[in-house]
Amino acid sequence: MTYQNYSLKQLQQIDAAHHLHPFTDHKELREAGSRIITHANGPFIYDSEGLELLDGMAGLWCVNIGYGRDELAEAAYAQMKELPYYNSFFKCSTPTPVLLSKKLAEIAPKNVNQVFYGSSGSEANDTALRLVRHYWVIEGKPEKNRIISRKMAYHGSTIAATSLGGMDAMHKQLNGAVPNIVHVMMPYAYGLALPGESDHDFGLRAAKSVEDAILEAGADKVAAFIGEPVMGAGGVKIPPASYWPEVQRICRKYDVLLMLDEVITGYGRTGEWFAAQTFGIEPDTITTAKALTSGYQPLSALLVGDRITSTLVEKGGEFNHGYTYSGHPVACAVALKNLEIIEQEGLVERVRNDTGPYFAKALQERIAGHDLVGEVRSIGLMGAIEIVKDKATKERFLPSGSAAVTVRDHAIANGMMLRATGDTMILSPPLIWTRDTIDMACERIGKALDLAQADLRKR
Ligand code: PMP
Repeated sequence: MTYQNYSLKQLQQIDAAHHLHPFTDHKELREAGSRIITHANGPFIYDSEGLELLDGMAGLWCVNIGYGRDELAEAAYAQMKELPYYNSFFKCSTPTPVLLSKKLAEIAPKNVNQVFYGSSGSEANDTALRLVRHYWVIEGKPEKNRIISRKMAYHGSTIAATSLGGMDAMHKQLNGAVPNIVHVMMPYAYGLALPGESDHDFGLRAAKSVEDAILEAGADKVAAFIGEPVMGAGGVKIPPASYWPEVQRICRKYDVLLMLDEVITGYGRTGEWFAAQTFGIEPDTITTAKALTSGYQPLSALLVGDRITSTLVEKGGEFNHGYTYSGHPVACAVALKNLEIIEQEGLVERVRNDTGPYFAKALQERIAGHDLVGEVRSIGLMGAIEIVKDKATKERFLPSGSAAVTVRDHAIANGMMLRATGDTMILSPPLIWTRDTIDMACERIGKALDLAQADLRKR
């Protein structure tokens, strides 16, 4: 029986009775009922009531080539018929992960040439943590095991990824994190720069917090620093240009590995294949997932730099780690086709040269001036809109986060799917967006801001 045989009400009731959702208050969900998305095409998603929404989040930062691409369905179908599954343990391999690894080595920064597969970003970060600690053990420095991360970082939801992340609410529920992970300040100038401090100076100060944490522990105790090049779930926080070069300099000075989490920024989002290239960084690991398959299949790839892999190969010894679905043949076939489409359609260049700059200009010219907006910022096709009560003082509405939810609800009612985190609206659209789609989004967001303002005034 297909879902069309059920009414919306029935689907919502079954959902409430049997389906536990991620990051959800289940009491609230049962009262409100879930929105059931039934199909999608190009940049649009549709719910069971026929509402058409322009998807400003590319699903969950992942559907970079848009919905309804037959080529990906065909790639999956062909691979499922030929070889739906075989593992890559016990000195076995299958063709698609082999070819995908070659492709990833071609597009990654030049010091990054090997790949370890999983099914999710969280798994890839677990792998990264285990690999980095294993690296220092076989280098004969097992005490070099501390990881420096940032407050408000999001690295996933497994125990290791939650521990790496810097979300207080998640840590509280974890009630016992993986030890030896510390969190320093985030490079968020709008929220944290001192009065009169330039973005440049603020970026250096935020980078200095990494050096302080290394010195506090002693460099011989610090394995690595991990960061999202642009913090995503924490509110699209784009660091000042001074930040990453300084962090890289500090990591090199103290022989601390540099781990990038590009689960969101990978595969074209910032106008290069990887944000490492946008910011000119040569990391030791790059965690990727999401847009690797444009979300059509669950797949993650931890890209590993030559420094780590040459030690693994030279010293030998088994790395006791792997997943049943590491290098899944179907997921890798879909990823290969997805990367081919991104390349053929020139989506990375389009973001860099056309839609990225147009998106930035549109947000500045059409959204930044609104009374509710404290700041807009973007890089490539990811952006943020800070919702404030007072533009000059940056005062927020109370309770915290409520104003952004009001904006979001009006946006959805007006055909625009975007996300609110805290008091920040977030955009991360498919890379197939054109100038026209950006215009449509700005019009709908502008309308949502007007309606939200009227509501907030009444309150
Ligand atoms: N890292 C980052 C930067 C992310 O944004 C996410 C997911 N939003 C993850 C890791 C975790 O990925 P997954 O949900 O696939 O486990």
